[in-house]
Amino acid sequence: MVHSITRRCEDRGLRLTGQRRVIADVLERADDHPDVETIHARAAAVDPAISVATVYRTVNLFEEAGILERREFGDGRARWEDAERDHHDHLIDLQTGEVVEFVDPEIEVLQERIARRLGYDLRGHRLELFGVRRK
Ligand SMILES: [Zn+2]
Repeated sequence: MVHSITRRCEDRGLRLTGQRRVIADVLERADDHPDVETIHARAAAVDPAISVATVYRTVNLFEEAGILERREFGDGRARWEDAERDHHDHLIDLQTGEVVEFVDPEIEVLQERIARRLGYDLRGHRLELFGVRRK
């Protein structure tokens, strides 16, 4: 069962100040992959006193606690995603920056097979595809 980010913070003993709680709520509601600037814009709309530095510290804290996962989509900016979302991979549109989520059973099986062939049990993987929309 997936618990809310706020609940998981509490379970891990992270103290949620008012500002952290606002940031946690923003992340909770995000169904995209926001970077720090985007998270800050959304959080500051609720509480204008929240600084970019606070957002930065908070997402790093949440990442260390295993609540968020950091993503890199090739433009050098870190994006953030709830670590408890169901597994999926990403395709990045190089022209628009749009991020498309997908799951492909064949890729999942293939990766298992590769790991096994190399003598490993697979514990996770990360796959990013980069493309331009076909005309
Ligand atoms: Zn995603």
